[in-house]
Amino acid sequence: MNDPIPISRPILGQAERDAVIAVLESGQLAQGEVVARFEAAFAQYCAARYCIAVSSGTAALHLALLGLGIGPGDEVITSPFSFIASANAILYVGARPVFADIDPATFCIDPDAVRRAITAHTRAILPVHLFGQAADMSSLDRLAQHHGLAIVEDACQAHGARWDGRPVGSWGVACYSFYPTKNITTAEGGAITTDDGDLAEQFRMLRSHGVRRRYYHEILGFNFRMTDLQAAIGLAQLSNIEGWVDARRAHAARYTDELRGVTVPPVRAEAFHVFHQYTVRSRRRDALQEHLLGAGIGTGIYYPLPIHQQRLYVERGLTGQFPASERAAGDVLSIPVRPDLTDDEQRRVIRAIDAFA
Ligand SMILES: *Cc1c(COP(=O)(O)O)cnc(C)c1O
Repeated sequence: MNDPIPISRPILGQAERDAVIAVLESGQLAQGEVVARFEAAFAQYCAARYCIAVSSGTAALHLALLGLGIGPGDEVITSPFSFIASANAILYVGARPVFADIDPATFCIDPDAVRRAITAHTRAILPVHLFGQAADMSSLDRLAQHHGLAIVEDACQAHGARWDGRPVGSWGVACYSFYPTKNITTAEGGAITTDDGDLAEQFRMLRSHGVRRRYYHEILGFNFRMTDLQAAIGLAQLSNIEGWVDARRAHAARYTDELRGVTVPPVRAEAFHVFHQYTVRSRRRDALQEHLLGAGIGTGIYYPLPIHQQRLYVERGLTGQFPASERAAGDVLSIPVRPDLTDDEQRRVIRAIDAFA
């Protein structure tokens, strides 16, 4: 049998190859001028004043919380329905992750649940713009303003997404990932964006052993740098991102029109959804996945176990009941929505789902 239609795959062309070879030939491999150019270009794409490139999305989340001064004794409210890194970053800084359930329609954190989770120890809200749709940032921003909380947006799946016309990231500090499955890639890589110059300076120091000036270490930092090799790939990828987002959105619109027998993902009127994933719901999810694999179609389950039920959280007593997240874990299935999905491939996916129903 042929390989199944992949759920995701990076799109790499001659521009990426040329850019990587140019860096190899320059002899400057680690963070240098190409990282600086990538930061400027990504900041511009996100309409943010500052961008700090780092080694991964996980490192971005970790540094965002550290740079905001969040640590032991503090609580950060986040979604239990995400990749584990969203909550692990809170553990890394010694703070306590407090979960608030999702809005089942959008898979993003429910502002009413956030309100109920706020205590005297809460320092920040960490919403995840899951699958490429922004969380309800107007409501979360109102809560944050009222209670004096910071906002750290996990935009690892949401490059270019908007809420109410505003780009994600504009409500606080935003964290991005450039892992190969994400909407653009640098192999491994991440970035933090912010409009706050002092915070940007903190993030830069934390990224590189606490230095402003080489070999003068002011604070305890890390080596979370991106390399020029990665940034070169990222610059080439960025020149395509708008077309790729348009393609994802066009595929999604067709699925939403034509799919039968599954629940298609609703999009909030305020959201400009960038469809990192197109995620349907079915009570017979596992059988549907099996059926699609038999028809040569790759799918993904993001995520089969919510964070509050992961062993490392249960063992720390950071568990609870989040029924909307638990239901989603049991019935979600992501189907291919890659920019380079062909017309013929998409027709096959739609037919196979029809046949299952
Ligand atoms: C990918 C991802 C991360 C982590 O990014 P890495 O670059 O893999 O470290 C964090 N949060 C979410 C929601 C993600 O999808």
